[in-house]
Amino acid sequence: SATLYVVATPIGNAGDISLRALHTLSIVDAVACEDTRNTGHLLTRYGLSKNLIAAHQHNEREVADKLIARLQAGERIALVSDAGTPAVSDPGARIVDAVRNAGLRVIPLPGASAAVTALSASGLLNDQFYFVGFLPAKAKQRETVLFGLQAIAATMVFYEAPHRITETVAALAAAFEPTRHIVFARELTKLFEETHRCTLAEAVTWINADPNRQKGEFVLLLEGAANAGDQDQIEAERILGILLEECS
Ligand code: SAM
Repeated sequence: SATLYVVATPIGNAGDISLRALHTLSIVDAVACEDTRNTGHLLTRYGLSKNLIAAHQHNEREVADKLIARLQAGERIALVSDAGTPAVSDPGARIVDAVRNAGLRVIPLPGASAAVTALSASGLLNDQFYFVGFLPAKAKQRETVLFGLQAIAATMVFYEAPHRITETVAALAAAFEPTRHIVFARELTKLFEETHRCTLAEAVTWINADPNRQKGEFVLLLEGAANAGDQDQIEAERILGILLEECS
């Protein structure tokens, strides 16, 4: 009966689609998707052919009305984005909001999310995390946002695209204590997957040391303020480490 299924899809590795996602995609009357070509390929891979409705950030409101009318007629509709969980740094939230306001049922299907996947392999304290998503592209606005995050104790989660990664790493290194840990989670679930953990003091050098490290899609995780420990003590140990190395 009338339901909007919010369906997570893989973030790279096609094997990460769930059995339940496939079943749901097979029973729905239509699929609302960010990019009809992308989702068309996903469905074809599993021998499915569905009515596709383009739902991107520029037409979410109008599409929501269309979807509500179809749901009210008793249809079942899936909502997907190009990769990962819809409505998380992706279109979908406005549609879900409108469908809920219309009193219709919304059922989420869990699956890949770049943020949670990166957190799970980071080793950072994740009992609290703060999802920042994409930082503003303009330097001034980015600095303002980062300044506002300086006292956050939770692990922070950033999304970044390859063309801005070095800039963003430099901005993080300038805005937070050099002793904090940062985790680079690049191309998760894909062929060139890499996760690297270092301190912010080492981060700019690491990312610039090899152009391959700047390619692909990134989640950046930054250790929170309260977990960074006693800064003076850590700095003293760092310097002692350098001195001892010089002596040996
Ligand atoms: N809704 C998606 C999710 O839940 O994972 C996120 C979509 S957002 C438009 C795309 C961003 O997610 C990328 O720029 C990158 O920061 C992150 N991302 C997506 N896939 C990734 C992957 N395989 N490895 C690392 N980061 C990824």
